[in-house]
Amino acid sequence: MQIVAGETLLVATGNRGKLAEISALLQPFGVLVVSLSELGLAEPEETEFSFSGNALLKARAGAAASGLVTLADDSGLEVQALGGAPGIYTADWAEGAKGRNFGRAMEKTWGLLQAIKAAPPHKATFCCTLALVRPEGAEQVFAGRVEGQIVWPMRGAQGHGYDPIFMPNGHLETFGEMDDVVKNKISHRADAFAKLIKECFT
Ligand code: IMP
Repeated sequence: MQIVAGETLLVATGNRGKLAEISALLQPFGVLVVSLSELGLAEPEETEFSFSGNALLKARAGAAASGLVTLADDSGLEVQALGGAPGIYTADWAEGAKGRNFGRAMEKTWGLLQAIKAAPPHKATFCCTLALVRPEGAEQVFAGRVEGQIVWPMRGAQGHGYDPIFMPNGHLETFGEMDDVVKNKISHRADAFAKLIKECFT
């Protein structure tokens, strides 16, 4: 699917960090980015059972409501010894009575690995799926990933989410310790975006 300079693209996320990151990535291509909140739209509930299902669900809802080409993403962490958990429930593991707490989510991940006496290295993958949907019906999905391992204790105060316990292969720092510029070159989101840019803007 080609996207032309001057075209308006809806980024279907309620997350301001993601919106800023995606806008910056698309800025060189002359695309005008609008957000759900600018259009008074809400993010639908994620009811599918895969990253691509949920990304498509969000992009389809945005395209239908706005009449604009719409981009949505869904991401998460898969830990091999936990059968791929937390997977699509990565954000949910942080939910508590007082809102999201990723320290608790990381403790849960480590606690489960200890409970099953999993042997290191604790292989894990960060996944990111981008879905692009046109209101006329065209759809495309781009999947990105970065392989690594879960380490304990948590290390580093950079980044967000599960960054302090994820160490990508070939590096000695966790995403939480790594400079943003480095993380954004090797991350699951960078991988998915490289595929999208190759397909849509070249
Ligand atoms: P969703 O894509 O909004 O459903 O949320 C996915 C969840 O995965 C986020 O809330 C983060 O906890 C986690 N996640 C996704 N990407 C990253 C990352 O690059 N670093 C750390 N955590 C991440």
